[in-house]
Amino acid sequence: MSKLTLDGFFSYCKQIAEHIQLSERMASISGQGTPKLTSAVGNLYYDSILPYREDANMQTREFLARVVDVLLDFVQKVNDRNEKILEFKMPEEMQKLLDLELHDEPLPLKQLLEDCKATLKYQVKTGHPHFFNQLSCGLDVISLAGEWLTAAANTNMFTYEIAPVFILMENIVLEKMRNMIGWKTGDSILAPGGSVSNLYAFLAARHHKFPQYKEKGLTSIPGHLVMFTSDQCHYSVKSCASVCGLGTDYCVCVPSDERGRMIPAQLERLVRYHKDKGHVPFFVNATSGTTVLGAFDPLSEIADICEKYDMWMHVDAAWGGGLLFSKKYRHPRLTGIERADSVTWNPHKLMGTLLQCSTVHFKYEGILLSCNAMSAEYLFMTDKIYDPRFDTGDKVIQCGRHNDIFKLWLQWRGKGTSGFERLMDRLMELSEYMVRRIKEQPDKFYLILEPELVNVSFWYLPKQLRGIPHDANKEIRLGKVCAKLKGRMMQSGTLMVGYQPDDRRPNFFRNIISSAAVTEKDVDFLLSEMDRLGQDIVVE
Ligand SMILES: *Cc1c(COP(=O)(O)O)cnc(C)c1O
Repeated sequence: MSKLTLDGFFSYCKQIAEHIQLSERMASISGQGTPKLTSAVGNLYYDSILPYREDANMQTREFLARVVDVLLDFVQKVNDRNEKILEFKMPEEMQKLLDLELHDEPLPLKQLLEDCKATLKYQVKTGHPHFFNQLSCGLDVISLAGEWLTAAANTNMFTYEIAPVFILMENIVLEKMRNMIGWKTGDSILAPGGSVSNLYAFLAARHHKFPQYKEKGLTSIPGHLVMFTSDQCHYSVKSCASVCGLGTDYCVCVPSDERGRMIPAQLERLVRYHKDKGHVPFFVNATSGTTVLGAFDPLSEIADICEKYDMWMHVDAAWGGGLLFSKKYRHPRLTGIERADSVTWNPHKLMGTLLQCSTVHFKYEGILLSCNAMSAEYLFMTDKIYDPRFDTGDKVIQCGRHNDIFKLWLQWRGKGTSGFERLMDRLMELSEYMVRRIKEQPDKFYLILEPELVNVSFWYLPKQLRGIPHDANKEIRLGKVCAKLKGRMMQSGTLMVGYQPDDRRPNFFRNIISSAAVTEKDVDFLLSEMDRLGQDIVVE
């Protein structure tokens, strides 16, 4: 046996320590109880770790490692079909269960770790395979890793100076997205959500048509501006009219057909009507993937009308934009999108990028700077050592901007463009499967329309309403079933599907498959669980 030197002894201890850490980690990964915070660290306060104590690397690492364990446990539970989606409590009860008070005195690290656990315990698992409630579902693990890195880097996106790598990533990703739309050049930005992206489009359109507006305001516009959008559009479009001084009366709703698509002849009629009144039609919003029905407005026909009357064409593809990846589904839905002047496209919806990630694209290079620049001298000096065009801060109406790019860039690296295409095709295929399964059970389910996207609109029929003819009165009763059944889903915690009325019908269910976790068996579960929870519902 060789003689044990002091160095050798230390290295041996280190190996053991690493082994213990590894087995703790393995135990937590396999769910056999998460390692605990040692009391030496658990009893510390914020000012005993970094950045307050520079000799506290180990304590800081231990604390953060235990927080990460809590997060990993959550990721595991999100993907466990035996776990509930939520522990529903009424707000009053929830307030009693949680200790949310802010105190004068600091709390120790062990309490903060408990706070993290309690927070996730009552959080709805939006990435659970049985969560079909929202347009943003799922928990993409690579994108999550990106979000964690983003938080650690904690930088602002306004200058190249402080976000060099992320700024270059934005350029690469946004150019790629513009190319997919069908443009060789242009301008783009990431905005805090599709609603703000739509606002950016509106502002750019007004600037493009009336460049004097920026300095001279309303007096530079020869009449009352009017914008057009379908009656199925996202409400953020109407909000542009209110925010930007048109008034919502001047956001004109164009009627849609029975499947929720804008009727071009109606658009043209309304444009003419407003022109004749002396108004100034200047902006048309076409929706690619409406929020409720998932309908696609006919872009080529709308583009013809925009050209004829010299109006800006914006496409709100916040929801449906992801289908640009799919050779199979892109056409005819998004045919003509390259003729638009601007496009909103939210990766945080169909593409499953973590919230929040929204993009808006313009056909015209430099339009954002021209429209929004205020040239603040303290941030955007023109004598910097690098090309100031790499600073993005003056392109936006915000000052600081959150880093929403890294989680998308990393996800795209991981999947490849072909991986996104496969995801789109898969989500569509699952939705088609769901439609088939609904049609196979006409006594229990009523399909409202053939969907163009992953929105499946339907009613559930409890026993009481089976076998009687479908008419307006029955629709009212089916509408009442929705709220009751949704209540039961929340209480049981096993399933979440959204419902809403629209202007043609009372409440109906709108199911969304936009999570990569969903499989055919989850769709089967969804339908059988609705029936299990709902069959004895009785309505007036
Ligand atoms: C979701 C959605 C929006 C709004 O996007 P946010 O990111 O929620 O602000 C806009 N338009 C359409 C069609 C949408 O579906």
